[in-house]
Amino acid sequence: MASDALAGRVALVTGASGGIGAAVARRLASEGAAVALAYAHDAARADELARELAAGGTRVLTAGADLTDREATLALVDDVEKELGPVDVLVANAGVGRIRQRIDEVTDDDWDTHVAVNLTAPFVLARRIAPGMAARGFGRVLFVSSVAAFTGGVVGPHYAASKAGLHGLTHWLASRLAGDGVTVNALAPALIERTGMLPGASDDLRGRIPVGRLGTPEEVADLALAVLTNGYLTNQVFTLDGGMYAR
Ligand code: NAP
Repeated sequence: MASDALAGRVALVTGASGGIGAAVARRLASEGAAVALAYAHDAARADELARELAAGGTRVLTAGADLTDREATLALVDDVEKELGPVDVLVANAGVGRIRQRIDEVTDDDWDTHVAVNLTAPFVLARRIAPGMAARGFGRVLFVSSVAAFTGGVVGPHYAASKAGLHGLTHWLASRLAGDGVTVNALAPALIERTGMLPGASDDLRGRIPVGRLGTPEEVADLALAVLTNGYLTNQVFTLDGGMYAR
């Protein structure tokens, strides 16, 4: 059953052309939110999702922006606000993860790109959007991190470090905005199937996950929705990893 918390709200989901972003966008639409689907390269996938959501009655917009570009990132928000209205829900989900085995394989471009997409863009989006949320007395900010921020993970130091930065951003922002009706949290998933980052997995990899299988984008979206519809829940980072990392 749809809750009232997000009905009529305007949500911006970055990385909505990807596996997790699309699943979160579907859940937000099912709650009655208007949804802006941001993508970088895969306009076709974003358009297909937009048609699906529009057919269900959702106010929806697709918007392409390369989040390594700060001007484009800000222009993205301008476009969304012009079409749908002020952003009430920010799901900063877009991310990159180029696998590197050793630190000396990580190029300057790898480092800069990962920090730009995974950390700087969420910061730029939050800096642009959160003051308006606070002024209106309602807002939800959700960053999509990774369990790699806690464990180091398997992608590489550039990825782990960029994601860990989101946790500091979460804690700082949450503590400043809690009194203004704005919650700020992060999800730290691992090994989610049917995504560009992890299209499939070997039996060996599955065997290392305590629950014995990969997670699904829908399971991430379920957790996202639980967080986004709870106004008392803020300043948290939630791991969702089949039991791989206990803390
Ligand atoms: P995905 O299917 O590859 O989605 C990644 C999304 O990020 C795509 O929509 C992509 O857009 C977008 N993106 C990449 N570079 C961008 C850029 N420069 N500007 C704007 N958008 C950009 O993978 P996913 O698993 O759904 O990833 C979503 C988030 O979950 C990421 O932050 C990732 O780090 C995190 N995560 C995933 C897993 C996992 O196991 N899958 C585990 C932990 C954390 P285009 O496709 O349009 O280029």
